[in-house]
This record gives sequence, structure tokens and C-alpha cells, in this order.
Amino acid sequence: MPKLTIEQLDLAGKRVFIRADLNVPLAGGEVADDTRLRAVVPTIQYALKAGAAVVLASHLGRPQGKVAREYSLRPVVDRLEALLGQRVELVPDCVGPETLARARSLKPGETLLLENLRFHPEEEANDDGFARELAALADCYVDDAFAAAHRTHASIVAITRYVQPAAAGLLMQQELSALGRILQSPERPLVAILGGAKVSDKLALVEHLLGRVDALLVGGGMAFTFLLALGHAVGRSLVEADCVETARAALNAARRRGVRLVVPLDTVVAASVDSASGRAVGIREIPPDQMGLDIGPRTCETFAAMMRTAQTVVWNGPMGVFEKTPFAAGTLGVARAVAEAPAFSVVGGGDTIAALAEAGVTERIGYVSTAGGAFLEFLEGRRLPGVEALTEAPV
Ligand code: AMP
Repeated sequence: MPKLTIEQLDLAGKRVFIRADLNVPLAGGEVADDTRLRAVVPTIQYALKAGAAVVLASHLGRPQGKVAREYSLRPVVDRLEALLGQRVELVPDCVGPETLARARSLKPGETLLLENLRFHPEEEANDDGFARELAALADCYVDDAFAAAHRTHASIVAITRYVQPAAAGLLMQQELSALGRILQSPERPLVAILGGAKVSDKLALVEHLLGRVDALLVGGGMAFTFLLALGHAVGRSLVEADCVETARAALNAARRRGVRLVVPLDTVVAASVDSASGRAVGIREIPPDQMGLDIGPRTCETFAAMMRTAQTVVWNGPMGVFEKTPFAAGTLGVARAVAEAPAFSVVGGGDTIAALAEAGVTERIGYVSTAGGAFLEFLEGRRLPGVEALTEAPV
């Protein structure tokens, strides 16, 4: 069912609770990357222009339900003020009588930022009483935190029982529409590229994608479990032994469905991730005492060739230990190939986005998602609690 959107709300003179994902990386007490802040600014500005007062809320990091200075949203305030070009007031607690009084005295055009929601254990417990307190701060609710939409937390799910209507913000809509394009009516061929370390995190996604894509390209540490399932000796490469059977089943399912599941033909091996250099070898030539830490040049070229004919591309997960220069070439090569593809491309996940930036190609990607976990769960075909909780659009 389509969900209500912020554009369908009458915001004039109202207080709107905007649940954002301001969970940005910090370094030395400052915002190290403001991508997520910039992404939510249009929604805040839209609400302010429409005559609303904004009560903005987010989590930051994992403070484990306790107040911890290092997880304060304070560093976000300066950056947000600069982006919005106006004052943002931070209140020291997201609930309580003082916050309620301040929210009630807010005037149209003003923005109040609540301190980290996760300072209260009730947030992650999806607690009803806590949600009711948050709901009391506003007249209507907007969820713009797609990156947290896979979480059943109080400010995302329980709150919508107490403040209605609950609408999707502009970023939430953009994310759903870009990712929806992959699953619903992609232009074909549709090619997915998966990488990263943990194959156990990605097997459900592999299974779901096999029913949708024309080709699935697997790189990164996760590829070695597939290579093992195909009978290759992988030396000391990363493998998850308990996933070999599922990987084998996925390879068989791909064959039955006529989907090309492409695993690496060559890999860059070294004694450890700390080795100063690596050596490309064919996949049958991995020495028993070495580990594969990147896809090799032939694999990179094969993946790139498939990009050239794809009409839709989705990518998550690095092709190797790209944080280390000797093992970064595969990931950077795939980043360039995705950018050069004539296809509509969607890329998600923190590491993958960092790789796009490092390759200098971010601007050439069709859509860069702000989400990691929610991106994967959406592509797995799972219903996201944060989206489910929103009010249905009138027919
Ligand atoms: P994930 O969190 O599962 O998406 O994995 C991301 C991590 O996978 C990155 O930090 C990479 O360094 C790591 N990675 C990618 N390829 C390999 C590999 N061949 N061996 C070990 N780690 C890898």
C-alpha cells in the first residue's frame, strides 16, 4: 500500500516530529562526514517553509541505553545550523517535562533537536510509554530515517500509535523509489554485485536476488565460501564453513533459473592483510598458506564487461580489503565500472560508499543510498517496520 507523504500533510501552524537518521561518523568531536545531514535537510526545510515548527530526533551510535557524552548530538548542531542557515536548539533530554514545555512553546519556523534517543533503553525496546512521551511533543509525525527503517524502535514504530498522521519524508520517499526500481520493474539486464566479508549476512539476499536478477557477481571475502562450495582450495582465505551448503544450494538454484552467478576467476593473495603487497593468481592456484584479499584483474575486467551491457545495477560490499592499498584495486575498479555503466545504478552500504568517494565517482552513480542494514533488508524483500508503521495514503 502506498504510504502518506509529507506533501500530503497540512503543516501550517503544526509541530511536526521528524525522525531522522543523524547517525554520522564523528572524529575529534566533530562531524567527519555530513552526508546523512545533507540528505535530511530538504525535508526539514520543506516543513519549515510550510509553516511548521520542527521537533527533530535521532539516535547516534550505540550508547547502550545510558547517557554518554561521546554520543551526544551536540556536534551535529553546528553542522546542521550551517546547512539550514538557521538556529537549531538542542534540548538535553528527548523526553521529560522541560522538553515537553519547550516543544509546546516552539513557534512556526523554529527547529528543536532532541538529544540522542538511545540514551533511554526504552527507545530500542520499542517501549509504549516512552513512545507516548515522544508523541506528546508534536501534532504529526514524519519518518525520514530510511537507514533506521529496519529497526522496531519506539521513535520509529510505537510512536505512530500515538501521533497521527505518520508520513514519509522526502528522503524516505527517494530511497523507497530508487530501491523499489530494482525490485519492481527494473530495466534489464539487471546485475547485482555483492561483496564484503560476511557471507552469512548476505545469503538471504543472494537467495532473494536470484529470483530477480539476470546476473549476480560475487566478490570480497564472501566469494571464498562459494569457491569452496565449487570444490576449489582457497588456502587461508576467509570462509564460513557452516554456509558452504547454502552457497552450494544458491549455485544450483542459479543454474536452474538461468541466472549467471559469477564468482572470481582470479584473486590477489598475500600472507596477511598487513602484507605490503599482493600477487594475482588464478583461482586454482591459491597457495595453501596465503589468503585471497581482493578480486584479481581478470575478474575485475569480467565484472566491468558485464556492467557495459547492464541496464540496472545494484552494488553492496567491497571486492577486497580495500582499506589497504595493495588490496583496493578490485573495489576501485568496480566503482569506476559501475559509474561508467550506461545503467541506472544504486549503491548502498558505508564501505561501498566510501569506495565510491575514494574512486571519485560518487556523482556519477544513479542513486547512493544513505542506508546499510535497511538497504540489504529491503532488497531481501523484507517488510521494513519503519515503513509498515506509516499511515496509508488515501485512495
Ligand atoms: P561486510 O561488513 O560484511 O560488508 O564486510 C566489509 C569488510 O569486508 C571490509 O572491511 C573489507 O575489508 C572486508 N573484506 C572484503 N574482502 C575481503 C577478503 N577477501 N578477505 C577479508 N576481508 C575482506
